[in-house]
Amino acid sequence: MTRVPEHVVIIGSGPAGWAAAIYTARASLQPVVFEGAVNEDNRLQGTLPLGQLALTTEVENYPGFPAGDLTQYLRSSLSAEHHWMVDMHQKEGCSGPELMHLMRQQATNFGTQVITDDVVEVDFDTRPFRIRASEGKTVEAHSVIIATGARANYLGIPSEEKFKNAGVSACAVCDGALPRFRDRPVVVVGGGDSAVEEADYLSKFASTVYLIHRRDELRASKIMAQRALDNPKIDIQWNSVVDEILGTDEQGVTGVRLQSTLDQSTRNIEAAGAFMAIGHTPNTDFLIGKLAMTEKKYLQWTVPFRTNTNIEGVFAAGDVADDYYRQAITAAGTGCMAALDAERWLSSQ
Ligand code: NAP
Repeated sequence: MTRVPEHVVIIGSGPAGWAAAIYTARASLQPVVFEGAVNEDNRLQGTLPLGQLALTTEVENYPGFPAGDLTQYLRSSLSAEHHWMVDMHQKEGCSGPELMHLMRQQATNFGTQVITDDVVEVDFDTRPFRIRASEGKTVEAHSVIIATGARANYLGIPSEEKFKNAGVSACAVCDGALPRFRDRPVVVVGGGDSAVEEADYLSKFASTVYLIHRRDELRASKIMAQRALDNPKIDIQWNSVVDEILGTDEQGVTGVRLQSTLDQSTRNIEAAGAFMAIGHTPNTDFLIGKLAMTEKKYLQWTVPFRTNTNIEGVFAAGDVADDYYRQAITAAGTGCMAALDAERWLSSQ
């Protein structure tokens, strides 16, 4: 247990967490960020440090990163151990992982202390608050900013669980380049922007990408939907759901069984992989019963245009409290707001 309570503890390390850290560090509040643990459970769940942006490819819509040669800028900003990312791509614009490493670097440059562990328990009934991490470290803090984001959903069928790590994934960018998918057919489940983005990415490696959607119209934005329709390697299977992942212990995934949403018919499709892109769940399990939440377990902002939760001194930022905008820029924006809200609240005490 630290002897002196921290001014502010930030839980989470996506754009919201680092934006909050940059602002509170520059306000001399010496923030402590719990960035999450690096372990297999978090890898499988998609909850590794640096958040969902670290699981994407190109970031096309984050202001400040236009197309252009950013190589020199990135080399000077990233620590030497991360130069491989710049050297590997030699490209224009900025990728999600690069952007996240830059944000982390920016926060630590201003003195942010980072703890690489998951928070498993909080006590908001005492003052200062108590925050306990999975390896037993407990930190006390006068204010807390929750920025734990959201994670990808899975279908929840037993065969899907069985073949996780053997062809079932919720992250094409993390797993798509594996040899098992190269020049083989794969399926992507979903009809939103994520599904189209994943299908488009996978079409670089796979022979055919079957996009399985339960309706006859994509939810994705027009420009993204057109990208899927124009890609000759993407084959959209309309009005269909995956009701079983097919495979063997030796080969992993070998296909999926599709159930029509229009009638009782089923059909099998051969595939080496099944990528889920069917929405998200907020990372709030450790906060159940501690903070007010919506029906879908997103944290509730309780004051209009502020990041306050129902507990004074506890603030929420990013996707953990936002199931509507869910963009990196809005997460970073609310991270900044939470930092300013926390700073003002601390000085009022
Ligand atoms: P989403 O927009 O909520 O789409 C989820 C998709 O999965 C929907 O098509 C939904 O079908 C389908 N689905 C949900 N549960 C299912 C189930 N159990 N079985 C089969 N299908 C299921 O989620 P998202 O695509 O992750 O996007 C989230 C937000 O991030 C959006 O605001 C999106 O614009 C944004 N985003 C933007 C970009 C980009 O701009 N590059 C990339 C990725 C995400 P229905 O359509 O029938 O509901």
